[in-house]
Amino acid sequence: MIDSARLQLPEFVPGSVWLVGAGPGDPGLLSVLALHALGQADCVVYDALVDRRILALARPGAALDYAGKRGGRPSPSQPDISARLIALAQEGKRVLRLKGGDPYMFGRAGEETLALAAAGVPFRVISGVTAALAALAAAAIPATMRGVNRSIIFTTGQSAEAREADDWAALARTGQPLVIYMALHNLGSIAAALIAGGLSSETPAALIVSATRADQEVLVSTLARIAQEAQAHGLEPPAIAVVGEIVAERQRLRAMLQLVAAESSM
Ligand code: SAH
Repeated sequence: MIDSARLQLPEFVPGSVWLVGAGPGDPGLLSVLALHALGQADCVVYDALVDRRILALARPGAALDYAGKRGGRPSPSQPDISARLIALAQEGKRVLRLKGGDPYMFGRAGEETLALAAAGVPFRVISGVTAALAALAAAAIPATMRGVNRSIIFTTGQSAEAREADDWAALARTGQPLVIYMALHNLGSIAAALIAGGLSSETPAALIVSATRADQEVLVSTLARIAQEAQAHGLEPPAIAVVGEIVAERQRLRAMLQLVAAESSM
């Protein structure tokens, strides 16, 4: 058990909401604060991408309340979820709002904290390992590498936030690597827009599917071919796409490891 007094962890006060990042899947990547919250929560309101093994860490007796899509039915609307969090807190519960990755990264925690503040409900936001960083680490692709990149761009490929080709062209012009959440569905058109915006069709590109989970898969290709290869391999979400020269660092590392293995077997 966690010695919360020794670690000076905050008390999970009844009537408050903690918005907690559950990370990308591997329970080993949970924060101590997340584990502390799971051990005390009266109810856990969780999203589709939260790993089962993490839910299993909730205090026995805690109510588990699913807030994602179920059996093809649409997910509850954002105002409905916020209203539910407020109602549970007003009943005097310790409410754990558990989200995949980091709550503030494409996670709607911004809307939820605004609603909680407007209702006068005390809350705390606890960061989690976001899928982009977890996926890069899991695929041995450095987020930054001296001599390769000075910045890194996190963006979304979701159609609900469909943007003008100009916007992708502006990202292409930065020359910095792109890490794209929700990329799989529109990958072909995103790649085409980046190439039209000036990136070479041979730019290294990777997809990391189900990062840190047992079914993790990594596909390395080029910008021109990645969407077609993803389809050919039948890849399914959740996936992170990475576009840029940092992807080549993975291949460099793998080549070196193979060399070391070959030399040591001589
Ligand atoms: N708040 C989350 C992101 C939610 S948006 C975070 O910080 O990670 C959902 C998208 O996250 C998915 O479409 C996918 O692009 C990405 N994602 C989440 N978990 C993932 C995983 N284990 N592997 C790869 N991508 C993941």
